Amino acid sequence: MAHRKIIEEGDSVLHKHCRPVTNFDSRLHELIDDMRETLLEADGAGLAAPQVGVLRRVVLVLETNVPEGEEPYIIELVNPEIVSTEGEQNGPEGCLSLPGRFGLVKRPMDVTVRAQDRNGNSFEISGHELTARAFCHELDHLEGKLFTQCATRMLTPNEVENGSWNDGLEV
Ligand code: ZN
Repeated sequence: MAHRKIIEEGDSVLHKHCRPVTNFDSRLHELIDDMRETLLEADGAGLAAPQVGVLRRVVLVLETNVPEGEEPYIIELVNPEIVSTEGEQNGPEGCLSLPGRFGLVKRPMDVTVRAQDRNGNSFEISGHELTARAFCHELDHLEGKLFTQCATRMLTPNEVENGSWNDGLEV
């Protein structure tokens, strides 16, 4: 496994459409393993392949809704598609490619995704709250879309620093 550099805003690769994965080979496994290491090192909630410069439909999402005492784990999604959504949440969102910037973004409260695993097997998985938000955010990356394009407003540096944006938010 190797750490890969996270591409930041300003690079056109973040605005490109990603192609489906067709070969579930060792090259894909290496990409996913590298993305896992990069995500853990960056301490993020999710990572999409274009953020490491690869225009393929691969994303990782950290599942933090785990029973007390258990560790969060990484969900690997290849060629993911949203199959259903429910409810709504409006909360702060950031991106490893836009360090230090946060905005308020409306997302569904529950999201079910159909995807393939690293070996090409299809499965469905549901995410709630932050996991649902991360599914939407990462899938947007595959269409070349950043959260700044769907934020209702960006948080001011003061709000980010003080954490006062935690007050009065619908979660
Ligand atoms: Zn992002």
